[in-house]
Amino acid sequence: MKAEDFITQIKNGKIDVVEHTKKVIEECKKINKEYNYFNVICEKEAIEQAKKVKKDPSGKLAGLPVSVKDCICVKGVDSTAGSRILKGYKPTFDATVIERVKKEGGIIIGKTSQDEFGFGGFSVNVGIDYKIPLNPFDKKRACGGSSGGSGGITQKVDFPHVSLGESTGGSIVNPASFCGVIGLCPTYGRVSRHGLLDYGNSLDKIGPMAKNIEDVALVMEVIAGKDENESTCLDEPVDDYSKQANIDISGMKIGIIKEGFRKGTDKEIEKKIKEKTKELEKAGAEVDEISLKTSIDYGLPTYYMIGTSEASTNLARYCGMRYGKHEKLEGSFNDYFKKVRSRNLGKEVKRRIMLGTFARMAGYRDAYYLKAAKIRTKIIEEYKKAFKKYDILICPTVPILPPNFDDIKKLSVVQNYMIDVLTVGPNLAGLPHMNVPIGFEKDGAGVELPVGMMLIADHLDENSLIRLGSALLK
Ligand code: GLN
Repeated sequence: MKAEDFITQIKNGKIDVVEHTKKVIEECKKINKEYNYFNVICEKEAIEQAKKVKKDPSGKLAGLPVSVKDCICVKGVDSTAGSRILKGYKPTFDATVIERVKKEGGIIIGKTSQDEFGFGGFSVNVGIDYKIPLNPFDKKRACGGSSGGSGGITQKVDFPHVSLGESTGGSIVNPASFCGVIGLCPTYGRVSRHGLLDYGNSLDKIGPMAKNIEDVALVMEVIAGKDENESTCLDEPVDDYSKQANIDISGMKIGIIKEGFRKGTDKEIEKKIKEKTKELEKAGAEVDEISLKTSIDYGLPTYYMIGTSEASTNLARYCGMRYGKHEKLEGSFNDYFKKVRSRNLGKEVKRRIMLGTFARMAGYRDAYYLKAAKIRTKIIEEYKKAFKKYDILICPTVPILPPNFDDIKKLSVVQNYMIDVLTVGPNLAGLPHMNVPIGFEKDGAGVELPVGMMLIADHLDENSLIRLGSALLK
């Protein structure tokens, strides 16, 4: 059922929102035992909110269950970005997106599992004591990352449901692709980051993941728009995204990114994307090939320099004094910080802090961080030029089908980072992009797995994503 139809039934009393919420929570607990999609399920808070909605079901999201990536602050509920260093942290305020969802009657059901602080593409880099989410189609495989729990639960449940994910370099579209759902990462600044536990401030975005495109559009209408509390949040009118679903796509200009099909891309994925592109042509879209060499050749190193540099300064605050787990205070401050951080941060977090600190250190700053910032500008220019000619650019979201955990273990650190090769470009450029599930393919082991297509649009043109996405899903 689409969220809109469900909400109508809540409003006219056909569904009892409190009873429904109780059932939803039980179902989530059951799924969680097997799949690890939640770090916490907030039963008490969800039922309290359901009771409020029962009294006043006038909100745009009345009664809709919403799961939330752990790095987004929810008042009174553990919000840890999947890290032991924040275990037990219960924010005293709601992130702006949460405030808006609650105001419209949405019901927050829990915090979803993720790579610690968002550092990963498979959700295997979870914090110490946290569990790895398992792919809904095959438990031996990864959900993608870093919003892996959001992707998994969105696919697994049958009741109407939306999840809020976060992306710095691809963490919304990647798990959406691996879990076979829609994930929309908005333009940088379209949705407020107030109350998000930062990874990289110039890159982070919050966006919805859902099974229906109409649900994605509906949630975007609620969460997007100016926020007094966040200076990078844009003061631009919010479109009626819902109106874009089911509009004719004839005349739409689509560029297929040539470098999106290089060596290393699964043949099944290439086949499926090309098949779907033919269908778009039949529906009246004009399709041809475009080269985005700067973005694909230099995107990864540029992203990992900028992302880790920003992360290393952001994470400095978790030192066990004002923020983060306290340990017994003894020795010098440096001894204390060392103890807190080495005990409570995972291996990948430590690696990123070291990498980022190195890249922006005096003497190396020009060679790494500043050079990356310059290439970022080149990448933005390359996309802007492309959007003079095209409405939408397309390519696979990730080059491979969801891998199994044994294969992931064999990857080197750099091979791990390579899963982001196609997603870092739009993230560096702050462009809105979306994963659309376009069907299933069998891998070498004969398992049917979801394939995702990534659509990229120009700044603030989320409308075109919804329009083309809905045509693809017909
Ligand atoms: N996989 C990327 C990384 O590890 C992207 C993560 C994200 O978008 N949060 O940095």
